[in-house]
Parts: sequence; C-alpha cells; structure tokens
Amino acid sequence: MPHIRPQATVDSALRCSDAGMSDAENAARHGVAVKTIRRWRRLYQRRGLPRGQGHCLALCPLCDHVDLDGAAYAELLGWYLGDGHISRQRRGVFGLHIVNDQRYVEDIARLHDLMRLVKPGARPHSRRVPGAVVVTTSWKHWPCLFPQHGPGRKHDRPILLEEWQRRIVEAHPGPFLRGLFHSDGCRAKNWTRRKVAGEWKRYDYPRWQFTNRSVDIRELCCWALDLVDVPWRQSNHQTISVSTRAAVARLDELIGPKA
Ligand SMILES: [Zn+2]
Repeated sequence: MPHIRPQATVDSALRCSDAGMSDAENAARHGVAVKTIRRWRRLYQRRGLPRGQGHCLALCPLCDHVDLDGAAYAELLGWYLGDGHISRQRRGVFGLHIVNDQRYVEDIARLHDLMRLVKPGARPHSRRVPGAVVVTTSWKHWPCLFPQHGPGRKHDRPILLEEWQRRIVEAHPGPFLRGLFHSDGCRAKNWTRRKVAGEWKRYDYPRWQFTNRSVDIRELCCWALDLVDVPWRQSNHQTISVSTRAAVARLDELIGPKA
C-alpha cells in the first residue's frame, strides 16, 4: 500500500518546519521518516505547491518515489490497455478514462477502487455514454504511470512496456490478465460434436477469448498467460483463445467472472 499520510499530518509538519523545527525532530514528532519530511519541504516549501489540497496533489510513484500498489496497478494497466485512454485537460492535468459495458456494475465499482488504490485520495467519477460507462480520474501523473500514452490509436502505434512495468506484471500476472480479459475479453459458451460409438454427441464447453486490434497488446496478453502457465492459441487474427478445460478453470480462478 502507498504510504500516503493524511493531509492534516503533512500540514502540521510543514507548520513545524516553517517555525524552524529541525527535520529530525519534526520526523520524530509526526512519526514519519526524515526523508519524508524532506520530501514535503521540497514539494511544498521549495516548489511552492498549494497546501491543504491533498486530493489534487497525490504524490507520484515515479516523480516522488512513493510506493505503488503493484497488484492494483497491474490490473489497472490491463484495463487501460484493453479499453482506456488518457486525455489532456487543463493546466497540465490529464484524465484517465476507462470504458466498460454498463451491464458489469461490479467491474465498474472495481475500477473506482483500482483508481483510488493507484492514486491515493482520488475521487473517480462515472459518466454514462450509450451502452457503456466511462470511469475517469484526473491527475497530472497519469502519463508517468502509463507511458504508452501517445497520439493516435493504440493499434496504430507500438505498445511496449517499460522495464519497471514488466517487473510489476511479472509479480502480478493474475491481476494484469483480469484487467485485460474483463475489458476486452469474454467468457463464451461453445459447443462441438463428436462421434462416440457411432453416434454424434454434443459437448458444451466454456472458453475465454481476448480480442484486441493491437498485435503488441495481444502479445502482452500471451506473455502474461505464459507467466501463469495457461495454454492459449491464436483463434483468428485478432483473438487469443483459452479453451482447454483445465486452462479455463485456471483462468476462472485467477480472474473471476465479468460481473
Ligand atoms: Zn509523475
């Protein structure tokens, strides 16, 4: 979990610092590390960030070196690659928008939770569009967390993960797959016929499919499936299928149903 202190603590420590208290004494009084006091002084005293607006000023894991919730990030990355985009808003702030089918109310609630875990203090909001809901959170640092952000559509440009992102997905492949399959996947019922002792019999079986127009994003999906030893195959030029009984059961257990 990120180590984000209540804004009241930050404000109190800054008042002490303003009054001339040493960093060591200040750290001891507020129960935080000396380097945390130094970081607050750098942000608020030297860089002059306005105080008392913690919800706007969540610290960034990349710029400010605060902890990142790896499992939540891996899942949000999957959602972003599946059906998300980043837009530029006013004054250097960006909106992270993730679109989801309006039928999946639990997934929409989960997106709110994920955004709050990745950006502490976030206040995500939902907006209805025809057939879907867009969940949005604003932050200056979304492009730091999702450096795949760029002009044009994701399938028209290379989508490669940075080394730190690969390490997070390697540590949390299940949540990453959950984000990918819950946004751009489906669990479809399928059937086939087989001749047994001279008679045709019908067999029903479920399978998971992931469909995305970006070859890079499909490759990331296959890479993560390999990480959890789930066999897959390319069932058409845009679709990855997981269809053996054991593989579907394993994926069910890892990512749960869309709901
Ligand atoms: Zn940043």
